[in-house]
Amino acid sequence: MKKECNFCGRSERQVRLLITGLNGYICEDCAKQAFQIVKESGLDSAASQGKKGKFEPKSNVPKPREIKEYLDQYVIGQDEAKRFLSVAVYNHYKRLQQPVDEKDGVEIEKSNIIMVGSTGTGKTLLARTIAKQLDVPFTIVDATVLTEAGYVGEDVESILSRLLQVADFDVKAAERGIVFIDEIDKIARKSDNPSITRDVSGEGVQQGLLKLLEGTIVNVPPKGGRKHPDQDYIHVDTRNILFVCGGAFDGIERKIAQRLNTHTVGYNSVQNVRKIDKDDLIKYVQPQDLKAFGLIPEIIGRLPVLTYLNPLDRAALEKILTEPKNSIVKQYMKLFEMDGVKLSFAPEALSYIVDKAVEYKLGARGLRSIVEAIMMDAMFEVPSKKLKTFEVTVDYAKEQLEKSVALGK
Ligand code: ADP
Repeated sequence: MKKECNFCGRSERQVRLLITGLNGYICEDCAKQAFQIVKESGLDSAASQGKKGKFEPKSNVPKPREIKEYLDQYVIGQDEAKRFLSVAVYNHYKRLQQPVDEKDGVEIEKSNIIMVGSTGTGKTLLARTIAKQLDVPFTIVDATVLTEAGYVGEDVESILSRLLQVADFDVKAAERGIVFIDEIDKIARKSDNPSITRDVSGEGVQQGLLKLLEGTIVNVPPKGGRKHPDQDYIHVDTRNILFVCGGAFDGIERKIAQRLNTHTVGYNSVQNVRKIDKDDLIKYVQPQDLKAFGLIPEIIGRLPVLTYLNPLDRAALEKILTEPKNSIVKQYMKLFEMDGVKLSFAPEALSYIVDKAVEYKLGARGLRSIVEAIMMDAMFEVPSKKLKTFEVTVDYAKEQLEKSVALGK
């Protein structure tokens, strides 16, 4: 028999590996493809084999207080958002446990969440951290890549393809999952007035998302991306999937201020005006502000839990640097510890790093890049030196950061 792959026809010389069977051959590429097909069919998932899957429902559901305590270990501040998330996730579990044919006719509906807060304040971190504690499939998607069906970009169904992948194509598990949709504000329509002109990236996508949020059976192409006529769809029921949306909603403070101003005229107005904290308007955010920003009312209606994240001040940034379980400083200490070196940061050096992060206006996101720039040389040199300790003093931090700025990094 000729030594060639029976699937693609390539000869032994054209492939890297040819696996021999009783009556034929298969090359490594075709074997890989075959594996993928089996995986996507769902036949090898734990659920279909009657085994306990990765995502079996928990019997002891963590209480909201426990969920929040867990979040506290990793996320600084943002108490309000943590409480809302903890309750929503707890209720999500309770819904999943409710028998399908409840006799009293009370069916708990899901409460999707929307979090408003400027970039780098911990929205994604909250979602990620909560996912670690849970035993449901969880995925993060970026709303900016979504477009209306038929346009360049990804259909909204791709969100479910990802969830399926995370769930190892165990459809039942995916149907109980949680999806974090980031940058939801980027699909706001450009003005509050519905217009007759097409708005490919905005309103159309919102309409598409609405379908998922409401809960329907969606035909999901297993490979993600575009639908293809001869692909087999996987039917996913989104009724029990919890959606958590996050967005910076830049400039929403103006809408909030406008609303507060109009509402404070008249009865009781003087008292109300005095109570308003003008520097921190985000905490007054209401669904109508999201509408003014350009989310369609139907979407807002499907995201009944609205919460906010505070901008991070100096004190919060300083804590973020050192306190969370996997804080940036702890991460570097661990890196050095692996080389037998005890790393420490002088308190003034930490203040300096926070000052720079405030100056660069990058929020908590800036901290990491600043520390990275400061530590670069040390990370290069220290492993080859026989050091026991290494202290980052404020002078060292300054010198290193200025050097990296000078180099244009
Ligand atoms: P966004 O609000 O834009 O989603 P992220 O959650 O991605 O922001 O935050 C970016 C990074 O900043 C995180 O990886 C984390 O290290 C840090 N960070 C932001 N906010 C906090 C916070 N409240 N507590 C601890 N770390 C934070």
